[in-house]
Amino acid sequence: MAASSPVEPAITEREVSETAALALDAADLLARFRERFYLPPERIYLDGNSLGLLSRDAETETLAALEQWKTLAIDGWLGADPPWFTLGEELGSLVAPLVGAAPEAVVVTGTTTVNQHALTATFYRPDGARRKIVATALDFSSDVYALGSLIRLHGGDPERDLVLVPSRDGRTIDEDDIIAALGDDIALALLPAVLYRSGQLLDVARLAAAARTRGIPMGFDCAHSIGAVPHHFDEWGVDWAFWCSYKYLNAGPGATGGLYVNRRHWGAAPGLAGWWGFEKTRQFDMVHAWQGAPSAGAWQISTPPLLAAVPLRGSLRLFHEAGMDALRTKSLAQTAYLASLLDASGLTAPPYAFAIGTPRQPERRGGHLAVAHEDAPRIARALKTRGIVPDFRAPNVIRLAPAPLYTTYHELWRTVQALQAIVDRGEHLHLAEGRDLVA
Ligand SMILES: *Cc1c(COP(=O)(O)O)cnc(C)c1O
Repeated sequence: MAASSPVEPAITEREVSETAALALDAADLLARFRERFYLPPERIYLDGNSLGLLSRDAETETLAALEQWKTLAIDGWLGADPPWFTLGEELGSLVAPLVGAAPEAVVVTGTTTVNQHALTATFYRPDGARRKIVATALDFSSDVYALGSLIRLHGGDPERDLVLVPSRDGRTIDEDDIIAALGDDIALALLPAVLYRSGQLLDVARLAAAARTRGIPMGFDCAHSIGAVPHHFDEWGVDWAFWCSYKYLNAGPGATGGLYVNRRHWGAAPGLAGWWGFEKTRQFDMVHAWQGAPSAGAWQISTPPLLAAVPLRGSLRLFHEAGMDALRTKSLAQTAYLASLLDASGLTAPPYAFAIGTPRQPERRGGHLAVAHEDAPRIARALKTRGIVPDFRAPNVIRLAPAPLYTTYHELWRTVQALQAIVDRGEHLHLAEGRDLVA
């Protein structure tokens, strides 16, 4: 456990001022990227971990794809720039640096839950007494539904075969507890790299190593870590992973996701095969005998949704220009700043009583800050009324996600001012309780 590692120093009184926030922005080496985005007018947008914003780069790629469809029609498969036929592989090689992988180990395809199914259908091989799956009690709902259905497909019972590692504090999962659950009866493990509610970053390297020693295929759902934290999948020996492209990657609502398969598994028969995973040079031979691509590309199933994939090409340009390490440095600085500002402004003490649910140690923190409050749904609504866009996760968490490509320190400062004013004036008290249909 990393519990003994240092937390970042709290900020001093002088540093809580508006002037200090503006000074941080003036010194920010990534500040220039903000103007590449369409920022919702009159809003402070802190929801990039749910739906990232549109960049001009992504827009340009999308318009270019429409134009090529207009002019090239069927010839776009090979004649477009980039050719549609190999777009999944090309985009995969562009995402690969963000996950620390060889270009052929990543492909852009499918969507998060579909990719989870494609990978678990391959790696879940229940055998005799070894048939249980390890996940966590704080997992995103979809992951658990998908694992339950996988177990049922194999004639098992999720009540018995799905082991959800419990949380000790309701917010985080202890890596020791996960490793303790990796017994002889475990056939597969799936874990989030970053927990969607609290923003805890798990020690992926340590978990992957523990799984390998025990011969358990372990995968990671990186929906909340891709584009927010650097990964080193090849070096860590991770078996497989998947993610979406519409959160920190800013590729648009429902954008095509991605997956990673470690080199040692290339050539394995995909559990959910389709012609798009066939060896590319022979795909149009249409022969019935399976010959998968010798790469992660074999886990593609179907013709890629071009218009849902091309925005990513523009968006990734920003990640490559800024660099994932620089983005992570700013992200950590911004979540630390936000947490310190909440503390220093007295908001984490009565009568405000906000509680920070995200680990304070930088190496255990993803890209957002979870702020708990018993009146969270109404306070989130009051923030929105003031033009600040957070998101709310049941039962009591307001997630604030600074996106290092476009969020300023001054916006974070204004958000803390707003939280204080909302409670001081009781602005939330007349608002509806409970969450919206899309929270
Ligand atoms: C956002 C998210 C998903 C979303 O799944 P889709 O299949 O893209 O709808 C899945 N898992 C986690 C952990 C998420 O954060």
